[in-house]
Amino acid sequence: MRHEDPLPSSSRPLLEIRGLDLDFGTPRGPIRALRNVSLDVPAAQVVGIVGESGSGKSTLAYTVMGLLSENADVTGSILFEGRDLLKMPAAERRNLLGDRLSMICQDPMTSLNPVRTIESQMIDIQHHEKESRGEKRARAIEMLKRIGIPDADRRISAYPHHFSGGMRQRICIAMALLVRPALLIADEPTTALDATLEVQIIHLLRDLQKEIGCSVLFVSHHLGAVAELCDRVAVMYAGEVVERGAVRDIFHNPSHPYTRALLECDPGRIKRRTRTLPTIPGEVPSLLGSKRGCIFRTRCRHASDRCVQEIPVEYHIGVDQIARCHLLDEERLVSA
Ligand code: ATP
Ligand code: SF4
Repeated sequence: MRHEDPLPSSSRPLLEIRGLDLDFGTPRGPIRALRNVSLDVPAAQVVGIVGESGSGKSTLAYTVMGLLSENADVTGSILFEGRDLLKMPAAERRNLLGDRLSMICQDPMTSLNPVRTIESQMIDIQHHEKESRGEKRARAIEMLKRIGIPDADRRISAYPHHFSGGMRQRICIAMALLVRPALLIADEPTTALDATLEVQIIHLLRDLQKEIGCSVLFVSHHLGAVAELCDRVAVMYAGEVVERGAVRDIFHNPSHPYTRALLECDPGRIKRRTRTLPTIPGEVPSLLGSKRGCIFRTRCRHASDRCVQEIPVEYHIGVDQIARCHLLDEERLVSA
């Protein structure tokens, strides 16, 4: 795990998400994909978002990018460099994309145009820069070399399909970072890759993030990758952030029953030999309609009447860890 550099208290986070709710309108009624999400991404830090499938990780990433489908209804605030993205005029917000905000996706072909050369795409992405085309080309080649593409001077003229899947993902990372964004959003960038390639991509991302000094919001299923890359982590369940804090604290002292269950099922942490990997019993609840009580109660072995009636508030654990569970309130009462 990475060493944590404490931030000076005066520095404001680059991204501050507050009370974010998001409903997708569907013929069956609204799907509440995000509920009261609050999260900070400090400058020059990597923040991981983990949780089972359907917990809202990608929705959160796309909401920050402003790339949502038309049936999405969003409320709350997303302050980026102090300005609320949700209140910004559309043209201004679009201008941030590929400049201060940049994204890499699970499938590199989502970002790469299959009928254009890597060269033209890497030059075009630098449209905010004032340099000449030749200078932009030279920067692109430099970046390709940096990410380990052999014979970059020649291969820059190739098309995306001339590269392997791992190389295409490297090229996407190179393109996203070529613009020197303040915030890179990486949505499951290693999920489609095998384990060896995943390790390479994580190391590359970490090195480039340090060099450029940008912040990263890293969405992943893979807890090992999050432990390796991230400074902080938010654990999502059924549209809510149930626990967040420094990676070291969350992994060593998980306080929410869902975080504990997620870590217990992580293949990287299972010491005994087993043929079947454990899973968290039960299913993620339907997100249709409004909800009462704790969102995790149907799968939680500690659930009580209070969990059915009341939505848990955020409890602080130590200096820098927050979790939403009534048990933390009861622990306080016992220790008081
Ligand atoms: P995965 O790890 O499988 O990508 P996730 O945690 O990223 O999952 P999301 O893709 O954000 O989860 O989905 C959250 C919920 O929102 C899911 O129930 C999904 O079906 C729903 N959803 C996402 N997009 C839409 C949409 N455009 N219209 C309706 N529902 C949607
Ligand atoms: Fe479990 Fe209740 Fe805590 Fe929810 S609030 S995680 S149901 S103990």
